[in-house]
Amino acid sequence: KDRTKPNIDEFEKGILTGDRSMLARAITLIESNAEHHFSYAQALLQKMLPYTGKAIRIGITGVPGAGKSTFIEAFGTYLCNLGLKVAVLAVDPSSSISGGSILGDKTRMEQLSRNNRAYIRPSPSAGKLGGVHRKTRETMLLCEAYGFDVILVETVGVGQSEVIVREMVDFFMLLVLTGAGDELQGMKKGIMELADAVLVNKADGPNKPLALKTKAEYNRIMHFLQPATKGWKSRASICSALYHEGMKEIWELILAFEETTKESGVFEERRRAQTKEWIYSMIMDQLQYSFFYHQEVKQQLPKFENEVMAGTRTATSAVEELFRIYITK
Ligand code: GDP
Repeated sequence: KDRTKPNIDEFEKGILTGDRSMLARAITLIESNAEHHFSYAQALLQKMLPYTGKAIRIGITGVPGAGKSTFIEAFGTYLCNLGLKVAVLAVDPSSSISGGSILGDKTRMEQLSRNNRAYIRPSPSAGKLGGVHRKTRETMLLCEAYGFDVILVETVGVGQSEVIVREMVDFFMLLVLTGAGDELQGMKKGIMELADAVLVNKADGPNKPLALKTKAEYNRIMHFLQPATKGWKSRASICSALYHEGMKEIWELILAFEETTKESGVFEERRRAQTKEWIYSMIMDQLQYSFFYHQEVKQQLPKFENEVMAGTRTATSAVEELFRIYITK
């Protein structure tokens, strides 16, 4: 199959001239867990680097049912109608464990997926050569080289994935539901402290007054929180993803954010910090990989594991011994 694989120059030309199938194939290489694809994809990425960085990167999170896919469908369509090109990426924390995916199962964003200004890519799965973090970040760079103006990165609001997405986007928003008065108090403060905006969705029909009330509550709480972005006051607004309402307002909010943070230098500062963080997260990936795939370590690990389980060796001593093997052999 690899005989038909384009060479790097063909990939480069394809991506820079807007060949959608070339983009998709390049992303597949980035996502591949095969070692021979890894270096190939990295060489391609290196070539693409000068063309990256021009998009605005937006993260979207929220619990299942908050309306993320409905929102992205509405918001993405709104942006496409403005003449912008929109890429939608996903970070699915479940994909690394089960191989399945929360985000990818249903038929989602049908309207947007038919729009030729939009490109929707499901979440990659994690693998030995680095997790979802690296793959999504590198896919984002390819999408920028291709010429997308807006990158939307979606994630389910559980666990570590919000932090991962926050670390790769400029603007991060939290989609919430109404009537969460009590939950609001118990809501993980941590997530709200990551958000540049909270969007109370489903503000339609009889639900609208409640949405306005919820919005006020969020604003009150956020007033006391550490801002997610220096010099930017995180705030709540309402929208109805289903009826495509509030899209203009949220886009204007994001543009205001971009202007403010670019003026103050915070925008660039964050991107630099993110790039630096990227190096370290990849070092962690590679360390793990090189340890667990070390021939001798792999061979000896079960033995040490058994000894520790049997109570004949302490875990610390087993780890020390394994590292000695890792370093010396
Ligand atoms: P996700 O799990 O966060 O991606 O949520 P979905 O986008 O799948 O939405 C969950 C349900 O809420 C679906 O039945 C949607 O039709 C519905 N929904 C999403 N946005 C709105 C909205 O703005 N108003 C109303 N009334 N329903 C909505």
